[in-house]
Order: sequence, then structure tokens, then C-alpha cells
Amino acid sequence: MGDASVISGGFMSAITSSLRRRRFDSLVIGAGGGGLRAALQLARADATVAVVSKVFPTRSHTVAAQGGMNAALANVLPDNWHWHMYDTVKGSDYLGDQDAIEYMCRAASHLVVELEHIGVPFSRLDDGSIYQRPFGGQSQNFGGVQAARTCAAADRTGHAILHSLYQQNIRARTHFFDEYFALDFIKDDQGYILGALVLEIATGEPLLIEAKTTLLATGGVGQLFATNTNARINTGDGLAMSLRAGIPVQDMEFFQFHPTGIAGRGMLITEGARGEGGYLVNKDGERFMERYAPNAKDLASRDVVSRAIYMEVRDGRGCGPEGSYVHLKLDHLGSDVIKKRLPGIRETIKTFLGIDPINEVIPVYPTAHYTMGGIPTNRFGQVVMPIKKGAEEAVPGLYAAGECACVSVHGANRLGGNSLLDIVVFGRAAGNHIIEYLKEVRQHRPVDNESVEQAMARFLRWDARAQVEGQEETVDALRRSLQQVMEKYCGVFRDDTILTQGVEKVREIEARFQNVVLRDQSKCFNTARIEALELENLIDLGLATVISALARKESRGAHSRIDYPERDDLAWMKHSLYFKEEQRLEYKPVRTQPLTVDSFPPKKRVY
Ligand SMILES: Cc1cc2nc3c(=O)[nH]c(=O)nc-3n(C[C@H](O)[C@H](O)[C@H](O)COP(=O)(O)OP(=O)(O)OC[C@H]3O[C@@H](n4cnc5c(N)ncnc54)[C@H](O)[C@@H]3O)c2cc1C
Repeated sequence: MGDASVISGGFMSAITSSLRRRRFDSLVIGAGGGGLRAALQLARADATVAVVSKVFPTRSHTVAAQGGMNAALANVLPDNWHWHMYDTVKGSDYLGDQDAIEYMCRAASHLVVELEHIGVPFSRLDDGSIYQRPFGGQSQNFGGVQAARTCAAADRTGHAILHSLYQQNIRARTHFFDEYFALDFIKDDQGYILGALVLEIATGEPLLIEAKTTLLATGGVGQLFATNTNARINTGDGLAMSLRAGIPVQDMEFFQFHPTGIAGRGMLITEGARGEGGYLVNKDGERFMERYAPNAKDLASRDVVSRAIYMEVRDGRGCGPEGSYVHLKLDHLGSDVIKKRLPGIRETIKTFLGIDPINEVIPVYPTAHYTMGGIPTNRFGQVVMPIKKGAEEAVPGLYAAGECACVSVHGANRLGGNSLLDIVVFGRAAGNHIIEYLKEVRQHRPVDNESVEQAMARFLRWDARAQVEGQEETVDALRRSLQQVMEKYCGVFRDDTILTQGVEKVREIEARFQNVVLRDQSKCFNTARIEALELENLIDLGLATVISALARKESRGAHSRIDYPERDDLAWMKHSLYFKEEQRLEYKPVRTQPLTVDSFPPKKRVY
């Protein structure tokens, strides 16, 4: 597959010239919090902006965010942005870029207040100020006692933020293309990104959206793993589009496993449950986190808590008939706290387990949650590429923000509550940079037909695939195999043998993908076609993840190697860059210099 020659040149140029086209100043791919925050900035500055989303905007995964958004408002306990910065650098296991982290933590309070003003109904304290709960990895005074930094709208914070942002975009006259699937970028011969070819899902018709700038805000890749907290749409399409355009993806070996997914199912129980006073116990009723993190206990960083649960189960202290999970205890909190602060997770638990957390303990186990890696950007949202050793330059016209981007503020491990912050901070920053760019670049550059034809060919070859005889693979089965391979060979703990097998197995899946046929060739709302396109993206990202993980011979943050249990700053305090071409890796240094304050040098990370 990937062979465009099945479609003749003349036929292709006829299709290309009859293609429907639309023109905007700016194209935003993705209508989660990242995309909508950027679009709002642009629309308010009177740019014409198109937002493309494969689902209705308010169904984007941001809607599922529960626990909240970090900002050092100091409404509950003393706090300041510098402490938040320290916690984020430490949480990242010193792989985060400190200039971007300073920028994010400084902007946080302002952006929470801004969200409040556009209508986000944050929970309140008695004095009317915004309620804040303690979350994992938060401290006062650079590693001192627990802080309370997470601003929450009960346990439906993402829902509140996404709906408010959508409403404000409607008001600002952002143009929405709902249920359109982005296929590939369109470029010119000088490397400018000039928009994208998208597919109208309802009709099956392609549409070319030309734009002076394109921003990717397509979210994470949680669907790489069998057990995950993510929406089914989180297939990393934007990352795969970038890979196909020759742009690398960064730090893909760092995938966050959230400690408290519903055992065996994966749905998330927010860290806010522990923030409100919940804790984990093993089969002996022991509060085991006291052994692994004597100070922070259940509110240690996510990587630390996930590994602790895994080890309790491995060492025979798990709960349940097979000893395969641990218990999260909330039943001591009282029904008032649960009803007021955690109503959403109570509902989830009642629906999926048939029990009420007010009276019963909850079986939990780590579940794939968040993509720390992504498309490399700077803190202005520009996508950056290495040009020669040590230097990089921006890809003209291309931006990325939100979970699909790697700025990198989360480094090797993201702190809870920092992603909702990341998406609004860098969505807005990218919007601001684009506004400046549009002042310089007033004209649309002519689109290079060859790049349109390439994108069309990749899309149209699925029609040709209907006729292939012989061995057939189905999208569903292959997607399932990929998810199981990733879970088994690239999970919480890794070593050389297991990762080497993982690389082989994902390469086998890549080869089997050549035999996938599309039996349903209908045009209208053909979800089989969409799932095939998504699977192709997932396979590229599975390879990126497992190849990057095999290469990194140290343990840092979420990447835990049994054969290299220590962090190795001398050899490995650097970002990885994976290129699709030749499946090769390069590395670039971590930016350790903040904007205005002293650098936080790497220290042993204990909680
Ligand atoms: C269950 C859950 C709970 C969470 N809770 C918290 C929390 O409490 N606090 C916190 O800070 N973080 C939390 N997170 C993480 C955080 O919610 C996400 O990282 C963040 O919302 C991602 O936002 P985004 O804008 O980058 O992408 P998303 O919200 O994932 O949106 C992606 C958008 O891209 C579009 N898209 C993707 N591919 C295509 C394509 N090919 N064509 C067209 N459109 C496309 C989708 O339609 C969608 O609109 C949680 C995550 C999950 C899964």
C-alpha cells in the first residue's frame, strides 16, 4: 500500500482540479480546549478562522477532564507560581524545558480568571473565591508540605471549560467544520504549510482548506493501549500527519499511566478523589503508599503511584479473586464530600461497577492516560525541526498546541491538572503568534498541486484496496492486536528483551496492514474508512513509541526500565526525536534555562 500508481496521473489531476476549496487566514485542526482557545484568540483579532473537528466540538476529549486545572491562586493554602514551576520541573524528572514551564506557571492565574470571566462555573469557597484541591506532586516552598493548586468545577472541569470556549467561539464567529476528518497537510516546494486536505465524513467528499497558517490541536494517542482512559477518537492523527510530512515526534517513550483506572476497564477515577482525602490499600488493608512515598503518600507523582500499584500486585498483595488490583477507599469521606466534589466519578462507578463509593471501596489499576510526547514546538506554538546539530528552525505556517504538542512542559511525567493549563496557555500563545505572522504574510501562497495529489492518492487508494484478492485483514482485529502488543510490550515496566519483541511485533502489524481491505466502499458516513485511516496513524505512533523506548537506556519519569533502573543525566538528559523515514532517532538538549529565574538543577526525585 502507499502506492499511488494505481491511480493514473491524468485522472488524478482531473480530480485535483475539480476539488472543492475554501480559504481562511488560519486553519485549526482540533476543537478540544487547545484548538478552541487558539481559535478564540484568532477570531477575536478578526482573522478568518476555520476549526475542523472529526467529532462535534464539545465531544472532544477535553470534555472528559475531571479533576481540574492548576494555578497558584493561593485561595486555600499559600502558593506562588515559582513553587508551581519547581513542582513541574521535578515532576517532569528534569526533562521539561524550563523556559516553557516558567511561561506556563506564570500565566496560569491570569488564564483561570479569564476562563472564569468567559463563563466557566468553577466551584467556590465560602468567601466566593475559586475552590482549589490538592493534587499529586504539588508542594509549598519548593518541596515542602502539600499545596492545594487545582481549580475545579466539581469533577467536571473539562466539560465546563470546553463548553464555555465553544460558546465564546460561536459568539466570535469562528467557522466550524464539524465532523470533517483531516487527512494530510498541503505544502509548497519551499516547505510552507498551506492548509490541509480534509474529508467531509457525512458525504465522503474531500475538501481542500487553504490557509496561511495551520494549527494542529488533535489531542493524544491513548488508543495505542488496550486499557486506557481516552476517547475512542484519540488516535494521534495530527502526530501522524506530521510524521508523514517529514516532521519528527518528540519524547514518545514517555506515556503516562494513570494510577487509578477502574480495574479491567480503564475508565478514569480522578486524582481529585485522592486530593479530597481518598487513599489506596492492598489486600491486607495496608495503606501501602506510605512505604513508597513517605511524605506525599497517595499524592506522589502519577508515575510513582502507578509503579507502586503494579509492584503490590506483582508481589501478591493485590485484591480480588486473582489479586489483580488494589482498592481506592473513599467511603470514609462521607456522602456530602462525595456528592459535592466528586459527583461525576460516583456516577461512573455506579454505572460501570454497580457499587456506590459512598459505602464501598473501588477496584483500581493503572491505565494508559496521557501522551507526554508529541510534535516538537517552542513556547510560541511554532512547530520546530532540527536543521543541523544543535540548531532548529520553525516550519513556516505550522503550529501545534495541546496534548498533540511537546513544548515540552511535562517532560517525562505530567502532573495532574497541568494539561488543562497547558492547552489554554499554549493555545492562546499560538493564537498570539499567528496573529503576528498574519501581519507579515498577507497573501495566500499558491498551493503546490503535487502535494494535493499526494494527499488525494493516499486517500483514494482505499478505493483500490477493495479489489485486492487473497489474504485479508480487518481494521478492527488489527487495531486490537496493536493495542494488546503496546500494553504488553511497552507498559509501566520495560526492559530490553520485552521492548525488542515489541518493536518486532509492531513491525509485523505494520506489514499486516498492507493486507487490510475496505469492504464497505460506501461514501456517506463510512466509519470503516475513518477507522482505517486512524489505524494507519496509530501504527506509525506505536512504532515511534516502542522504538524510542527501546533506545532510551535509563529510567526517567514514566519510562521505567528494569534493566536500567537509574536516571542517567549525563547520557540521557535529552529529548528524543523520531523520524518516520528510516524509523530513525535523533536527540536534542533539554532547555534548562528559565526566562527570568535561576535554573532548577537535576536532583534525586523523592516524594
Ligand atoms: C478522562 C480524562 C480526564 C482528564 N482529566 C484531566 C484533568 O482533570 N486535568 C488536566 O489538566 N488534564 C486532564 N486530562 C488531560 C486533558 O484533558 C487533555 O490532555 C486535554 O484536554 C487535551 O486537549 P486537546 O485540546 O489537546 O485535545 P482534545 O480535547 O483531545 O481534542 C482533540 C480534537 O482534535 C480533533 N481531531 C483529532 N484528529 C482529527 C482529525 N484527523 N481530523 C479532524 N479533527 C481531529 C478531535 O475531533 C478533537 O476536537 C484528562 C484526560 C482524560 C482522558
